Amino acid sequence: MDKLELKALAKVNLGLDVLGRRSSGYHDVRMVMQTVYLYDQVIMEKKKKPGIEVETNLYFLPVNENNLAYKAAKLLMDEFKIKEGIKITLKKHIPVAAGMAGGSSNAAAVLYGMNRMFSLKLSEEELMERGVALGADVPYCIMRGTVLAEGIGEVLTPLAPMPKCHILIAKPPISVSTKFVYDELDSHEITKHPDIDGIIAGLNGQDLARIAGSLGNVLEEVTVREYPVIEQIKNTMKEQGALNAIMSGSGPTVFGIFEEKSRAREAGRKIKETGATKQVYVTNVHNARRK
Ligand code: ATP
Repeated sequence: MDKLELKALAKVNLGLDVLGRRSSGYHDVRMVMQTVYLYDQVIMEKKKKPGIEVETNLYFLPVNENNLAYKAAKLLMDEFKIKEGIKITLKKHIPVAAGMAGGSSNAAAVLYGMNRMFSLKLSEEELMERGVALGADVPYCIMRGTVLAEGIGEVLTPLAPMPKCHILIAKPPISVSTKFVYDELDSHEITKHPDIDGIIAGLNGQDLARIAGSLGNVLEEVTVREYPVIEQIKNTMKEQGALNAIMSGSGPTVFGIFEEKSRAREAGRKIKETGATKQVYVTNVHNARRK
């Protein structure tokens, strides 16, 4: 196989709780992750010339060893002493630095692609073990679907799939530093933890209203204080018929859950009208096939 075209799917957090901080600086988390059908295209081509070449449509992304896709290819090339070269083209659609694991999903796709193209015969589990060296979210991006993530995000338990619904995603035009968010969180006592068990119970009962009612992200307290546009977008989504809306990851992306696509679209239009952001997407949840 000389060429492979893959979809690297984004995620949202239905729930994100922080339980503590390790001496390493990493945080112990308890998160419910959900894959959504918003993706980057990852095109991989074998080259005779050794080495790794990365190309992307976003001028501000690194194309050297700082790109997670590059890192993923290098990891397997070094381990398996691959002599041929690889060209990776990233057509990015997932908002960058937005709490949607865009970089991690690119890395996951490249690990999967390298395994296939070079017949490395690694199992999904073996790919996930390697992925964690690239980032805590990479193993999840290999597994995909509805998953409980614990530890630093790498201890994964598949959950009952998210019932069918429509997801409205809105990314405000601001940059939020993940480090800033966690530092702020560490400097205050957490008074209100999200109801992760409520989300899991809702998934087990396939009860969309209960899941939506239990959505929560402990990091919102920090970001909403600093960036009121996040709260503004959440409110617009709820006024426009979302069952609920919260921020994903460390933000600033907000997503809302809708039963009807037309209402999700209308809410997206309203958000654009208010001037909060132009970057909105209506999509679905993507549930992984499980063995
Ligand atoms: P997470 O939800 O895991 O915190 P995120 O959505 O906040 O991820 P990413 O989009 O993964 O953040 O990107 C974060 C940073 O990583 C960016 O500032 C970018 O420069 C760098 N980066 C490296 N490789 C990539 C890639 N392939 N795609 C996007 N960003 C990348």
